[in-house]
Amino acid sequence: MISLIIPCFNEEESLPLFYPEATSVLQKMNCDYELIFVNDGSRDRTLAILKELSEKDPHVIYLSFSRNFGKEAAMYAGLQNASGDYCVFMDADLQHPPALLKNMYHAVKYEGYDCCAGLREDRTGENPIRTFLSRSFYHLIGNACHLDMGDGKGDFRMMNRAMTDSILELKEYNRYMKGIFSFVGFDTKWIPFHNTERAAGKTKWNFRSLFRYAMDGMLSFSSAPASLPGFIGMFLLIAAVVTGLVSVFTGHKANWILLLV
Ligand code: UDP
Ligand code: MG
Repeated sequence: MISLIIPCFNEEESLPLFYPEATSVLQKMNCDYELIFVNDGSRDRTLAILKELSEKDPHVIYLSFSRNFGKEAAMYAGLQNASGDYCVFMDADLQHPPALLKNMYHAVKYEGYDCCAGLREDRTGENPIRTFLSRSFYHLIGNACHLDMGDGKGDFRMMNRAMTDSILELKEYNRYMKGIFSFVGFDTKWIPFHNTERAAGKTKWNFRSLFRYAMDGMLSFSSAPASLPGFIGMFLLIAAVVTGLVSVFTGHKANWILLLV
């Protein structure tokens, strides 16, 4: 069985497009499936739509949060409730093409991979400032962490039970999933795909939430921020010693070095 986990925050416009498209792909794949929607504290009709879908289709399950906890929390809750042999994370806005599910299934079931993930090749249609900031962030995190978290390597992936259970075993409070995927390892096949604009509705991220997300990633997977105060301390210590030595040997107060510091 395949479990599709779909975090949803104010997706009333996307769900009527996502559900039929994902269902039609899954029905052609000759395997059992479940759609686990996680309502992440939506303030629109998302929950009402999910209730309707679950009443008319036994493949649909939904979970609902008491407030907006964020996409990472929604993904984790979905994973905890998935009973499939293979679990897939997908966005509700069709930016993760359901058509790729067939190839992903083939890779994990017949080609010996533990995971098959989408590799987004471009950022067409995205706000250029966000593109620049995201690329800079992935460059920075790539250098600061010794984990493979490149731009385009997102959450869209199908994983086998072994990988799913390893992820569930990690009891991190800040669950930066891109880091967790890379941290647990496992043999992953990458399938390239082109970015498309979301099918309906607006992106749920603003610069503030993206910044918080980036900081979570940095603080969870790199010791660089924790080492920074140590480096600053070392620098100040060396400057103080140099200042002292200059004062002793020249008889002048080395105010210029203090100014530099
Ligand atoms: N999402 C969520 N909680 C949030 C933000 C987003 O569950 O706090 C969901 C959203 O409904 C969508 C997915 O995460 O299914 C990706 O969000 P979005 O498309 O807005 O992100 P983008 O594609 O702009 O990175
Ligand atoms: Mg999107």
